[in-house]
Amino acid sequence: MSGKKRKPIRWGMVGGGRGSQIGYIHRSAALRDNTFELVAGAFDIDPERGRAFGAELGLDEGRSYPDYLAMFAAEAKRDDGIEAASIATPNNTHFAICKAALEHDLHVVCEKPLCFTVAEAEELKALSEARGRIVGVTYGYAGHQMIEQARAMVKNGDLGDIRVVNLQFAHGFHTAPVEEQNPSTRWRVDPKFAGPSYVLGDVGTHPLYISEVILPHLKVKRLMCVRQSFVKSRAPLEDNAVTLMEYDNGAIATVWSSAVNAGSMHGQKVRIIGSRASIEWWDERPNQLFYEIQGEPVRILERGMDYLYPQARIDDRIGGGHPEGLFEAWANLYRRFGFAISGDRGFALTDTGDLIFPGIEAGLEGVRWVENCVRSADAGGVWVDYSS
Ligand code: NAD
Repeated sequence: MSGKKRKPIRWGMVGGGRGSQIGYIHRSAALRDNTFELVAGAFDIDPERGRAFGAELGLDEGRSYPDYLAMFAAEAKRDDGIEAASIATPNNTHFAICKAALEHDLHVVCEKPLCFTVAEAEELKALSEARGRIVGVTYGYAGHQMIEQARAMVKNGDLGDIRVVNLQFAHGFHTAPVEEQNPSTRWRVDPKFAGPSYVLGDVGTHPLYISEVILPHLKVKRLMCVRQSFVKSRAPLEDNAVTLMEYDNGAIATVWSSAVNAGSMHGQKVRIIGSRASIEWWDERPNQLFYEIQGEPVRILERGMDYLYPQARIDDRIGGGHPEGLFEAWANLYRRFGFAISGDRGFALTDTGDLIFPGIEAGLEGVRWVENCVRSADAGGVWVDYSS
């Protein structure tokens, strides 16, 4: 690590208020390595609740704002104003908040989906480039170290030519209409707030992004999707979807996105099958990667061990054997966001390996994928050209 003295990035949050599902992990990830310092927030749709929450978090009273526009405007006038903002609000607000943050010359960490349409995502990309600001997107599972190992194994040819990719994020938590009681689920099944899809955007984009990290050389050529609302009141939004994708090298992928996989916890699995061997990763056992060479006994690779590729050890915090989890994976991502924002190598643990993070391109790809899946499904499950 560089010995250079550095200051944490001054950081504000939009959303992620008390009781929200995802606010806590943003804070613990951003603050864990002293990369960011929380100095301001517009945490809640209810200004009073947001202010009370800001006080609980120890913010100066004047820096807990009733809404994001008030925060961006007031912080821009301060010498010590925020340099970056995270957005952890329901999907329908991401585009407007992200745009406003960039217009105030802030770096942004935005929840997925980045926005609803490719046109919106292109607009945000152009704006972030024009303003020279980073947009990170929290595909948090990609911060697990064994994803880096998988990427290095593919790059080094350990699997041979890639033939088949099986992706799934299929949990069982919404097997029944739980949205009748749970407000965090209610907006997810309402197109006004969730956008054009439920599970495709909410869960399917996670393993999709992981596959982009592991297989950067494969480009989707065309796809076909069918989607269902097994809990009828969720229509037109789907609670289950199956997508078939063809890559430009002839490889084939399936993506199962579901909230009705009864009995399953997360059920997020990524299996990459090559001509010589396969690897499989499961987010409920994130410290392990199954490595299966045809004709040999199965090997289970463990996080933090010397036999891993160097890229898979950059983020090691405590050595093999000690289980790390989602909080560390998110902290790894936030550290990379911090590195990208500051350009300060002191934020990277070592100078080896590629330092990759889900940026604006990843956000755009997620939106493009959902848009194409919905286009295919709504036309009756037909092949659609992915580039159009
Ligand atoms: P939630 O409903 O539990 O919480 C939303 C929070 O945002 C609440 O505190 C609410 O008061 C606040 N809010 C709403 N509108 C606001 C506004 N205009 N200004 C300020 N605050 C506002 O939702 P959640 O489950 O935490 O999801 C939030 C986002 O995070 C969604 O986009 C969701 O897709 C995403 N998410 C991502 C992951 C992941 O793994 N990356 C996991 C869960 C949720």
